[in-house]
Amino acid sequence: MTSENRHLEMRFRVQVMLATALPFEGGVLDYCYQSDQRPSIGQFVIVPLGSRSVAGVIIGHSDQSVDDPRLKSIEKIADLPCLSKQMIDLVRWVAEWTMSPVGAVLKMVLPIKEALLPPKGIKAWQVATHLNTDDLSEKRKAVIHQLKNTPPMTTSDAAILAGVSPAMITAMGRDGLLEIVMMNPENAADHDALGQQNVMTLSPEQRLAADQVNDALKQNVFKTFVLDGVTGSGKTEVYFDAIEQTIKNGGQALILLPEIALSPQMQNRIKSRFGHRPVVWHSGLSPAQRISAYRRITKGQAKIIVGARSALFLPYHNLGLITVDEEHDQSYKQDDHVAYQARDMAVMRAKAEQIPIILASATPSLETEVNIDQGRYQRLELTKRVGAAELPEITVIDLKRDAPPRQHWLAPGLVKAIEDVLQDGNQALLFLNRRGYAPLTLCRTCGDRLTCPQCSAWLVAHKKDNALHCHHCAHRIRLPDQCPNCETEGSLVSCGPGVERLADEVSALFPDARQAVLSSDLVPTPQALAAFTEDVIKGDIDIIIGTQMITKGHHFPNLKLVGVVDADLGLAGGDLRAAETTWQVMVQVAGRAGRTGQSGKAILQTLAPETPVFKALKSGNRAAFLAEEKKARKTADMPPYGRLAGIILSSKNEPLLRESVQILGRKRPHFNGVNILGPAPAPMAFLRGRHRMRFLIKADRAVDLQKVIRDWLDTVDLPSAIRCQIDIDPYHFM
Ligand code: ADP
Ligand code: ZN
Repeated sequence: MTSENRHLEMRFRVQVMLATALPFEGGVLDYCYQSDQRPSIGQFVIVPLGSRSVAGVIIGHSDQSVDDPRLKSIEKIADLPCLSKQMIDLVRWVAEWTMSPVGAVLKMVLPIKEALLPPKGIKAWQVATHLNTDDLSEKRKAVIHQLKNTPPMTTSDAAILAGVSPAMITAMGRDGLLEIVMMNPENAADHDALGQQNVMTLSPEQRLAADQVNDALKQNVFKTFVLDGVTGSGKTEVYFDAIEQTIKNGGQALILLPEIALSPQMQNRIKSRFGHRPVVWHSGLSPAQRISAYRRITKGQAKIIVGARSALFLPYHNLGLITVDEEHDQSYKQDDHVAYQARDMAVMRAKAEQIPIILASATPSLETEVNIDQGRYQRLELTKRVGAAELPEITVIDLKRDAPPRQHWLAPGLVKAIEDVLQDGNQALLFLNRRGYAPLTLCRTCGDRLTCPQCSAWLVAHKKDNALHCHHCAHRIRLPDQCPNCETEGSLVSCGPGVERLADEVSALFPDARQAVLSSDLVPTPQALAAFTEDVIKGDIDIIIGTQMITKGHHFPNLKLVGVVDADLGLAGGDLRAAETTWQVMVQVAGRAGRTGQSGKAILQTLAPETPVFKALKSGNRAAFLAEEKKARKTADMPPYGRLAGIILSSKNEPLLRESVQILGRKRPHFNGVNILGPAPAPMAFLRGRHRMRFLIKADRAVDLQKVIRDWLDTVDLPSAIRCQIDIDPYHFM
């Protein structure tokens, strides 16, 4: 910098919202900034905070003195576009709504500080300046020809494009034919951008649905569509059509998927439909992948983004459309840190951006149904499966009448049905939402149940490592030979089935069938899932045994039978959405059957066939089931008609916890339309070494629930050893 422009520089005092969950006044601190021009609102920055550096965003200019000696300087200004005013407002709104620190919400917008600065250069090859090309081999000539006509390339890119080995590229470097330059990785050639598009002609029903979204896209308006179509009705193709329109308008399209459905199948489908791969965003990315994805998203280079719920708050440069696929899925609800429902927040984001949003599902949530009833959302209906495929017929097996033999879990009726599909050369799927071998291990002698020392939970036996695992914390022990309580040898027995134990039963019953288990323990990575899916599609597997992981997104052409081993599993426990969830999971898993050609069958094993949810599934009467559910929620003043919040206090110190909830309980407010239940032990009364007590607050729709809670908590100074988690509209009652 020359001395001439240095004297043009001025010092500015700016307000920076910090991306950190540390709670301090409003989440905003002042910093100073030296420059020849006023910094813009929305600029991403890196600033010092104590001994750390944190990311933040400039949200305003301060008129206080810039000569304050305590004022620290901004360390770095990001080379990325500014955050919009609407997004800054949305961050504040989400913080208020979820009752979280503003900085914790901003951290979802700015999750990686390292992504704010230009990435370090990578080594790339270009043709040497002084070059003698006489006597070169054809292959070497091809490399030189290639690199003369393109920007510098990494070793592997140059090798692929010139059709030679990477070793030849480095050898040519040694021989002085090529030389190294440092290149910004963001300018590297993108092979995925070259590809062919395979567009399907939409059916009239699909066309009608897509056109309604496209109209909203043309008018640039916020509108919430519910794409309601049975499994296999072609919903994905409908939103692909709207995405195409979005990209043509220069916008970015975000597809949110439940975490475990981020299957390679979806990425391949997008590649084949649009000719390039989507940018993917989820918790399993490496740091380098995250940085690259983040920058492409923020700069508007990423056109289609497929992500888990955490993709919702990223600073898209020009977001044009949001799709929430499987909108009913409960993995959209985050329980810790900022407790938010991503489907609902996606609607708020679309509103802030003034863009359309599509909520797609074969089993829309009750919340969404009520929003349609009340005219806030618009339903787009797909009534039939694509082509000749019909929906599977659902039948129920009463386990009291058609009981499996002792220590077995498949009823004779289901076993017979599996035999039949195998005979026809088709595939069967057995669904049991329980990881591992057995959910409970107990001692035959003293009756002791093996539980986690850190959590109020049974230890789950896993065969893979012959160990007992806690599914709530990292606790894991080798399966002991003797009872830890009474020390009797060989007295421990496994109770109940997990998918691994079910696999043993299947092997014994069908020794010739090829079977595979799909669970997060045995198929832990996206690559493993891709290989698994491929095996099923190729026909290398006859019987699939799967947890919840199997229910979503998969399309297996020869799958003709779905057996649900324990349909009652989701109904236990006091979850307010238990019946609704069971209905959704059953329809989704049944929907994996018979997606092409001859129709499929689903068989549910239950001890309570007369329960309304099973009757509705048998008769296929969704409207009647939903009407009953709505009535029950309305009568009980439960969401979505009434409001609900959970406050969980937790501590390692149990007496202190008890004392604190008593004090808070005595200060409880008394208002009309507000009903506070508790304190009571939380359903998980002990979790990761912390004791937990809960209050539940029920309120009328009209009540400002957040204000009631804030005012109440303000009356008490909780000791620092007590953690307080607030969950507005809780889903997982833990
Ligand atoms: P959904 O998302 O409702 O479960 P999909 O969009 O996955 O349904 O469609 C189910 C199957 O039908 C897929 O294999 C898809 O490629 C195919 N399909 C969808 N729409 C069409 C169409 N218009 N013409 C031909 N095949 C289609
Ligand atoms: Zn545990």
